[in-house]
Amino acid sequence: MAQRFDTIIIGGGAIGCSVAYHLAKKGIKPIVVDKRAMGAQASSMPSGMLAAQEESFAPDAFFDLCMAGRELVQTMAPEIKFKTGIDPELEITGIWHAAEREKDKNTLLEKMQWQKDKGLPVEWHEQQHLRDVLPGLQPCQGALYYPKDGHLNTVKWVKGLAEAARMCGARFMDHVPDFSLIKEDNEVTGIKTRKEIYFADKTIITAGVWTSKVFGELGITLQQKPIRGQLMVLGGIPRAFQGPVYAGQGYLVPKPDGRLVIGATMEDVGFDTHPTMSAQRYLADWVTRWCVGIHSLPVLEFPVGLRPFPPDSWPVMGPVKDYEGLYVCTGHFRNGILLSAISGQYMADGMAEGTWAPLGQAFSPDRFMKETAAQETETEEPRPKTEDHRPKINGMGRYL
Ligand SMILES: Cc1cc2nc3c(=O)[nH]c(=O)nc-3n(C[C@H](O)[C@H](O)[C@H](O)COP(=O)(O)OP(=O)(O)OC[C@H]3O[C@@H](n4cnc5c(N)ncnc54)[C@H](O)[C@@H]3O)c2cc1C
Repeated sequence: MAQRFDTIIIGGGAIGCSVAYHLAKKGIKPIVVDKRAMGAQASSMPSGMLAAQEESFAPDAFFDLCMAGRELVQTMAPEIKFKTGIDPELEITGIWHAAEREKDKNTLLEKMQWQKDKGLPVEWHEQQHLRDVLPGLQPCQGALYYPKDGHLNTVKWVKGLAEAARMCGARFMDHVPDFSLIKEDNEVTGIKTRKEIYFADKTIITAGVWTSKVFGELGITLQQKPIRGQLMVLGGIPRAFQGPVYAGQGYLVPKPDGRLVIGATMEDVGFDTHPTMSAQRYLADWVTRWCVGIHSLPVLEFPVGLRPFPPDSWPVMGPVKDYEGLYVCTGHFRNGILLSAISGQYMADGMAEGTWAPLGQAFSPDRFMKETAAQETETEEPRPKTEDHRPKINGMGRYL
């Protein structure tokens, strides 16, 4: 049987569900199709940080997107709760970054300066003060504090986005293992499942790390690779941390239900999602180095996810060149939860109106897409940021 929708969304993680919600709010009826369960891949990782200031390394287009992203999540979280009854548990606790050595302190103070110049709240706290506010943290050289950063419950956030989209008229189909895109010349006109055909004027691919595979079926190369992230979840220490803390090559996120999320590895190992002994040891070493009183805490789980990583580590979103009605939104790497709301809004506005907001221009898919027939090149190194202080992707030895 054939059915027609306004838009087909391939992939129902945080990005696909956000696009669905923003389209449906405009009266555009999308169907979201997922090979597996909605929101069960990268978007289910429990860290859920909205680390807009912490994860920005220069006053550039990515920083502007992060700022807009944080603001929109903070506006939308109560809206989603009100509409659906699902509480994404948004916590604006602030995020800390502890300095291990004098050198790290200087780097953080430089960061504080440019962020202050941009008019953002950011504070330096000396070690004496940290004893009171972060009693679970081992002594260090002080810490930078971003009071407006925070975190949320990723599973509830995605569930809430999907439910809000459904209430506005979106449809969801999960566990659809076999389907193919219908391509006529340079136009994708729909998808064909085992039993049904869905037609739509517009199709958007939001399949996280699998986006490049979906484009591969169309003969288009998208340069993006998976970067595996492993976490360790402990039964927490009440009141030891009032908010997430980055330190050295790792972080911790205290959750309101008492869990303490320790993260994360950054591993270039393809699509393998097995947890590994070396990662577990690495995370255990990190938490032992940085936290006091954790040895008897129960280990609850070791979640693993794949981050979509384009060559310059910036999102890839917009219309696909030379293809009528085909769009992509992926490449959110370490910040797909933070950027889910703004990316969904940007795509829905552009797809509905045909004009694209200046905020997203730096993230055009033209950077990394081409017909497969053309010469394929290996992915380039990440874009060198000014004084790159980001955690490095470096196999297992370092968190990334
Ligand atoms: C360990 C770890 C910690 C992280 N911590 C944070 C954090 O604190 N803050 C933050 O902002 N970000 C964080 N991230 C990054 C964030 O999780 C990702 O950037 C984001 O979830 C990507 O969302 P997505 O919707 O693009 O992909 P996904 O959530 O992976 O969703 C893609 C969906 O597409 C489906 N799919 C795949 N192939 C197909 C196909 N052929 N057809 C149909 N559907 C398909 C999948 O089943 C899946 O449901 C973290 C990631 C990891 C791994």
